[in-house]
Amino acid sequence: MKFNQLAEYFEKISQNSSRIEITRILAELFKKLSSSEIEKVVYLLQGRVRPAYEGIEFGMAEKMVIKAIILALNIEKSYFEKEYKKTGDLGETVEYFKKQFFSFEEKEMEIDEVYDFFYRIATSSGEGSQEVKISLLSQLIRQLDPISAKFIVRIPTGNIRMGFSDMTILDAYSWMIKGDKSLRNLFEKAYHVRPELGFIGRLAKEKGVTALEKIEPKVFTPIIMMRAERLSSAKEIIDQLGDCVIEEKFDGFRLQVHYKKGTVLKGSVLEKTVPEVKLFSRSLEDVTFMYPDIVEAVKKQVKAKEMIFEGEAIGYNPKTGDFLPFQETVQRKRKYDIDKVAKEIPLRLFVFEVLYKDGENFINQPFIKRRKILEESIETKKDIKNEVILIANQEKVNDEKKIDELFDKAVKNNLEGIMAKKIDGVYKPGAREWNWIKYKKSYSSKVNDTIDCVVMGYDLGKGKRTSFGIGAFLVGVYDDENDQYKTVAKIGTGLTDEEWKKLKVKSQKLKVKYKPNNYLVDKTMECDIWLEPKIVVEIKADEITKSPVHTAGYALRFPRLERFRDDKKPQDATTLAELLSMANKHS
Ligand code: ATP
Repeated sequence: MKFNQLAEYFEKISQNSSRIEITRILAELFKKLSSSEIEKVVYLLQGRVRPAYEGIEFGMAEKMVIKAIILALNIEKSYFEKEYKKTGDLGETVEYFKKQFFSFEEKEMEIDEVYDFFYRIATSSGEGSQEVKISLLSQLIRQLDPISAKFIVRIPTGNIRMGFSDMTILDAYSWMIKGDKSLRNLFEKAYHVRPELGFIGRLAKEKGVTALEKIEPKVFTPIIMMRAERLSSAKEIIDQLGDCVIEEKFDGFRLQVHYKKGTVLKGSVLEKTVPEVKLFSRSLEDVTFMYPDIVEAVKKQVKAKEMIFEGEAIGYNPKTGDFLPFQETVQRKRKYDIDKVAKEIPLRLFVFEVLYKDGENFINQPFIKRRKILEESIETKKDIKNEVILIANQEKVNDEKKIDELFDKAVKNNLEGIMAKKIDGVYKPGAREWNWIKYKKSYSSKVNDTIDCVVMGYDLGKGKRTSFGIGAFLVGVYDDENDQYKTVAKIGTGLTDEEWKKLKVKSQKLKVKYKPNNYLVDKTMECDIWLEPKIVVEIKADEITKSPVHTAGYALRFPRLERFRDDKKPQDATTLAELLSMANKHS
């Protein structure tokens, strides 16, 4: 397909706010694309060239994009800026100028060709790369028609985002094949094992839906992690699971480890094997470079050719033998001074899952089998003082008393509580299911868990908080059925000065001019400033009560900020369905 035809679709989508309509337009577009085009277009639609976890970013700030525009249009910067000020939108300004000055260089380009430009822009790095990026982008602007150029400049700045996530694209895949959303679950299941949106679209186009059913994990492609249900007593746990396994619940951060023994050949002869390791966070971010101590330990302690496994990393004080509180462990999530802080806050990785090993997929195997494989694959002397990787302790239980005993012991040990696991439960990527149940010590209020909310916008400060620039902020939960954010609280108190400042800093890059399309907000809750859905905060509340003004249908009573959840993506926030089930349990 030609890029200008794709630009027409971008135009239609950006003018539409109905999710069903957007899904329909996407499906129509996907039908017309070849399998290799679909793989590229789904990323361009989101302002990137590859899935987010590969970490390939454009690295072009607005200033650089403006340089490329001025170079392409060959006009004075001040002339451009005067027009830009009128609309505040780079895309529209470029379209306006392109319409004014027709260029003889304009030609029709294939999507593949344009994508190659973008791929080169995103992957050029090192000295001189800024000039390369600017030059490539300006060539595109010069060669393409006005409407295409409008979207071309929105792609590297991230302004292309049209208010939908991967979920809407999965829906559109279903519509592409079936004309309805009946295949959404199948697509979602495949995506949870291989969250490579482009690959999934190409596979469905080339091999049909049966290929999706057989999808297998792939080392270095993160699997969307399984999550736990929540209960607040030993009795409820036994009622739900019967005999089960109890593990300690470590309050650190989850890591999914991908390991492979790569080979180096000299001619056709094997010279040596080189272990490769990648670490992914809960939100599928590649965090390998942050934890060199864990990478080293994986190379030492893993006994396999290739393996995908999971655990919780937690700070540990080897002198006292104590685990560190979350606030200290989380200091390890950083981009600078990595080696220095690694020495100050050593980590221990408690592993509890294996999903794949040496060609075998363990996702659908019972938990006890996975545990056996895990024990065979990690070499450990159970020496917590000197070893980085340990296998999480577990105990089989069949009565409430024992669960309570283990819970009390865990709490005494500075841990968050316990995890109860179904003995023959399978691993369900991306799902929150009863195969895992968390039982935490903080369940003192009526609500049995904290609620992870997305910050949607804020009001400017009055009184004391004028200095922070934020008076109150609006938070919502994620309605995964409709790919929308629905409000549950406006929070104006209960943050420390540090937290207000942190919120302000995080917000500044996320301001948008209009309320995003997928925010459902009552008039009375409108905000002075709207934010892109990015910041996830963990909120504690005393109660969840029915609400006529919050669009989730429920509101949080006495909401307090527990902590920022930088490890979560907006779609990992508490879902509307979870909120409803938490509310019903306690009404
Ligand atoms: P979510 O419930 O959405 O996963 P969360 O981080 O808010 O996110 P928690 O309440 O912390 O969830 O409980 C689940 C998390 O507990 C897991 O994602 C994992 O990071 C952590 N965890 C700690 N110990 C264990 C364990 N033994 N088995 C499984 N998970 C554990």
